[in-house]
Amino acid sequence: MSTSGGSADDLTRRSGAALGAALRSGEVSAREVIEAHLELAERQNPALNAWLTLDRDGALAAADEADRKLTAARRDRAALDGLHPLLGLPVALKDLVSVRGVQCTAGSRILEGYLAPYDAHITERLRDAGAVILGKTNMDEFAMGSSTEHSAFGPTANPWALDRVPGGSSGGSASAVAAFHVPYSIGTDTGGSIRQPAALTGIVGLKPTYGRVSRYGIVAFASSLDQIGPFGRDVRDAAAVLHAVAGRDPRDSTSAPVPVPDELLALADDDEAAASLRGKRLGLPREYFVAGMEPGVEARVRQAVAALEAAGATVEEVSLPHTDYGLATYYIVAPAEASANLARYDGIRYGPRLGDGDTLGNYLRTRGEGFGAEVKRRIMLGTYALSAGYYDAYYLKAQKVRTLIKGDFDALFEAGFDALVAPTSPTVAFPMGARMADPVSMYLSDACTLPVNMAGLPGLSIPCGLSDGLPVGLQLIGPAWSELELLRLGRGYEALTADAEWRGAEPAELALADNPATRGPSAGRPVPA
Ligand code: GLN
Repeated sequence: MSTSGGSADDLTRRSGAALGAALRSGEVSAREVIEAHLELAERQNPALNAWLTLDRDGALAAADEADRKLTAARRDRAALDGLHPLLGLPVALKDLVSVRGVQCTAGSRILEGYLAPYDAHITERLRDAGAVILGKTNMDEFAMGSSTEHSAFGPTANPWALDRVPGGSSGGSASAVAAFHVPYSIGTDTGGSIRQPAALTGIVGLKPTYGRVSRYGIVAFASSLDQIGPFGRDVRDAAAVLHAVAGRDPRDSTSAPVPVPDELLALADDDEAAASLRGKRLGLPREYFVAGMEPGVEARVRQAVAALEAAGATVEEVSLPHTDYGLATYYIVAPAEASANLARYDGIRYGPRLGDGDTLGNYLRTRGEGFGAEVKRRIMLGTYALSAGYYDAYYLKAQKVRTLIKGDFDALFEAGFDALVAPTSPTVAFPMGARMADPVSMYLSDACTLPVNMAGLPGLSIPCGLSDGLPVGLQLIGPAWSELELLRLGRGYEALTADAEWRGAEPAELALADNPATRGPSAGRPVPA
């Protein structure tokens, strides 16, 4: 452990909950906590390229503000208990979340230099909680991808193996948490972009129910599928972030007026959490053990299922018969919505304007040079699927199949299953470059996550061990608004495996990332905010 600079008293190795307790007791100051995380992120970013922006000045100012609140509250026990658990703690935002005055690229050249003129809803909520925004993280361009290799600013490395991808599209946010730069971060998940990178980097990631978190101020990819959610190294930390950002916001008409349970902040300790698994009814969808699944991944998932059964849950094999159509329908619906959402990048309203010709000439050059190949592929697919004559054959048909996919899940939850258990990703982290030449092989990375977005449901990925030294994720899928229940199940599994050897393992190549001589594929140098 010491080889990667992670000694027991290293603040960056503690959970968010433990850091919060240390802040409230006065053991450490928010400034010390923020300094420690900033320093690590700055040192390792050349190797990992997880960050596109690090806001040292803004973060330290927010830390000092948190210290003032902590000092005032420490005079009165009740005031101390009333502080939000995120107060004074560092968080990373995927670079498609608007932070007023800070660059927001969505991983694209077409937004390079664009400064968000306002805060996203979730940015406001995190600021209200007193969380400290450390910076913005790398991502696939407009969140299209499963590896973060489609970023215009170079790929992000996986701290478990620097020549492998961290998953995507929220790979920067996942890598930053796995490498201890922050205890938690924010990603978005349109087809798997929180759960899959969480699985590939060995952390927890939650895709909430569609409508749980306001999308106001988030760069849109596919509006009927996009959801914002948290990453953490454990379930409790992820739950605390969800608690801060969830809830109705009138500025996003799809955000639902569903209460956010305060129990998210009080998930049970080990014994109670493990005991709560007794009597749970879980379904194991057979279609999720897809062709091409790595045997090591399947073995870890089946082992996790056996552990849940041993703890008193019942697990029954079930069928989600339309799973096979998930990929095909997603790649009609998501590109169709993307082609509409991305029409706004015209070189007039956002980011750089290229060309000195007429309006049309500027438009063509700005979009021609501003968008990468994957984004253009999606715009063409989407425009085709929406065009006269093809709309009914493709888009309308896909929407009908989407209803069938949702019906599969509804039937199981109506039959009384508490949740479904499945792999998150069919493989562990794959080598950089392995899927870049074949778009369909990249799309297949999300075969186990896409249907959940199509149905609007919540999905949680939690680590369940290693295969060939690389992390494997276990996915828990629940009915709409069941985040608390999913997180409780996840906490239960965490409790069962608290002493497992793999839990103590740090990402194998963190020490390499720590060496200033190690340069990642793009030698990431984040810009100051
Ligand atoms: N990998 C999928 C895609 O490329 C999902 C991405 C996401 O969830 N943002 O569309």
